[in-house]
Amino acid sequence: MTNPATNAGLAPSDKALVPFVSVDHMMKLINHIGVEEMLRGLAAYIEADFRRWELFDKTPRVASHSEKGVIELMPTSDGEVYGFKYVNGHPGNTKGGFQTVTAFGLLANVANGYPVLLTEMTILTALRTAATSAVVARLLAPKGAHVMAMIGNGAQSEFQSLAMKAICGVDEVRLYDIDPAATEKCAANLAGQGLKIVKCASAEEAIEGAQIITTCTADKQYATILTDNMVGSGVHINAIGGDCPGKTELAPAILHRAGIFVEFPEQTRIEGEIQQLDADHPVTEIWQVLTGQAKGRTSAEQITLFDSVGFAIEDFSALRYVRDQIAETGLFHPLDLLADPDDPRDLFGMLQRAKG
Ligand code: NAD
Repeated sequence: MTNPATNAGLAPSDKALVPFVSVDHMMKLINHIGVEEMLRGLAAYIEADFRRWELFDKTPRVASHSEKGVIELMPTSDGEVYGFKYVNGHPGNTKGGFQTVTAFGLLANVANGYPVLLTEMTILTALRTAATSAVVARLLAPKGAHVMAMIGNGAQSEFQSLAMKAICGVDEVRLYDIDPAATEKCAANLAGQGLKIVKCASAEEAIEGAQIITTCTADKQYATILTDNMVGSGVHINAIGGDCPGKTELAPAILHRAGIFVEFPEQTRIEGEIQQLDADHPVTEIWQVLTGQAKGRTSAEQITLFDSVGFAIEDFSALRYVRDQIAETGLFHPLDLLADPDDPRDLFGMLQRAKG
């Protein structure tokens, strides 16, 4: 496998054709590699990039909000490679047969600005979000954690479950969704994947005996998926669904009892569960725990909370991973995306010659 910590797989910058990974190619790539193996690979790339956090350009994502949802751009660069993702979040979409989250992304060579990869990122986002959750749970979950409650059984849920299995050793997942059809779908998809699946009738039932609680619901409001009395000491909460202003999942009292861990505080204070807290409420950055500059879990009784909103560096890592896999598999279309005239200053002449 390509070294996750380098840019070794950067495509030559003089290539005018840009590799494009379609949804079809992405599915073939994931099935070729295997979901769990790819989750482990993505986790290695994400961890490698979090360890060199200080190198990156960092900015909260650029969000355009509407009544129905949000459209966001998520850029970053490590000085050699630049990447961005376009992503939406529309909680009402599934009622109309559309997905809540769709995405595509691009990687470019900083030296000349030429794109080196364009790819679907709807499926890739589900994988990178799950891999990030598992990287963080491996750091923070109580010792021996092996049961996870999965609240919200939509598009992300199977990926979350399999990442916790592949990376953290979870062997039992307890499912709950307000829509029983979503739970049935998730249970059916996870059958035969090596996990014990328990379908639950309430969130309370789902968290019984769970050391890891994942909330991954979609609702454009301050929802309360977990109330204070539901959360016992010592658990790790992986809160995925609250990722927008006005969209949270946890009762504020839980936040006051927990050690809170975030990706990029400047973005999480706008979008995460901690938008419910004072702007100076202490939080710990994941990259600092990974590099040993900050403490993770401090006791067996502590409630740890990963207030996940999804940060550009995770997408950058996922784009790097895909770039490094496609060369040997050939799972891409060469895309005529750049004009790239033979004489770089003769764009008009190229147009004239195209008349035939
Ligand atoms: P989805 O619409 O496919 O699934 C959401 C599920 O939540 C649905 O099945 C719905 O019935 C269920 N739900 C809603 N309210 C509930 C409640 N009160 N209790 C239990 N279940 C409830 O959405 P998805 O693609 O799975 O995404 C889930 C959430 O995760 C979204 O809010 C999305 O924005 C967020 N997300 C976060 C990240 C990140 O990096 N943090 C990445 C991707 C998605």
